[in-house]
Amino acid sequence: MNDEIPETHPRYKSLVIRERLRDFMEKGIVVPEGLIAHGRGEAFDYIFGEASQDFALESEKAAISLLMLSKNPVITVNGNVAALSYKEIVELHNVTGIKVEINLFHRSDERIKKIAELFQREGLTEIYGIHADKEIPGLVHNRRFADGNGIYSADTVFIPLEDGDRAMSLKNMGKKVIAIDLNPFSRTSITADISIIDEITRTIKNFIKIYEELKNLNESELKEILNKFDNKKNKVDAINLICEKLRYWQTDQKPHL
Ligand code: ATP
Repeated sequence: MNDEIPETHPRYKSLVIRERLRDFMEKGIVVPEGLIAHGRGEAFDYIFGEASQDFALESEKAAISLLMLSKNPVITVNGNVAALSYKEIVELHNVTGIKVEINLFHRSDERIKKIAELFQREGLTEIYGIHADKEIPGLVHNRRFADGNGIYSADTVFIPLEDGDRAMSLKNMGKKVIAIDLNPFSRTSITADISIIDEITRTIKNFIKIYEELKNLNESELKEILNKFDNKKNKVDAINLICEKLRYWQTDQKPHL
């Protein structure tokens, strides 16, 4: 994929992602603020060992169950999400039928067009949010614009790499919220019904595998998975792992998780 970064480098994947974000910034899809937001996520991922931990896989299984049970689920994408995972998101749409809506804090017609083209080239024909005709109550910034046939009328909104404001406003509208955020302390992670504390590229790839495992389950079996899932416990597990890792680096004792 890249000539200059050797695959043996211990931070190979992380360096490839950085390079990808830089390339997509040059294309006008990622904004500079997106690079800073990514850095916050990276810091947490460093502590998590750059791997999907058990608490992440549990939440991903619950998230797929909820998406399969939802009547009108929508995934909302910003520049970073599009740059890092547009192919996998189209694959997820193809298997689950989830709608894809573009929603940007730094919104411009040109950026929306570029992001839409990325998905269209991958074969996605219906993209929401291009002509956002509704406003999410309680928000004043650009992320308030929503598509009446997309996020606005969705029963479940899947919001990778969010700002907490919108997650809270969507909850106030009575929607179920699934979030991906490596930071278990963010308002998004605190607000979501299902908080996936994992890196986005790993998460979406895991989703497709988990969907294959769950696709033949019936409604009550999916509901059972959801009922057994404990979002609060999961976040506590993530925070405990952070504490253990920090202690380990202080004392050289191996973390349990
Ligand atoms: P909140 O408003 O919820 O407190 P915030 O203001 O920190 O969040 P942003 O600045 O928009 O939100 O940051 C986006 C969040 O996305 C950060 O918390 C960061 O941990 C997370 N993040 C960034 N890159 C990734 C990634 N590749 N995978 C998963 N999470 C990521």
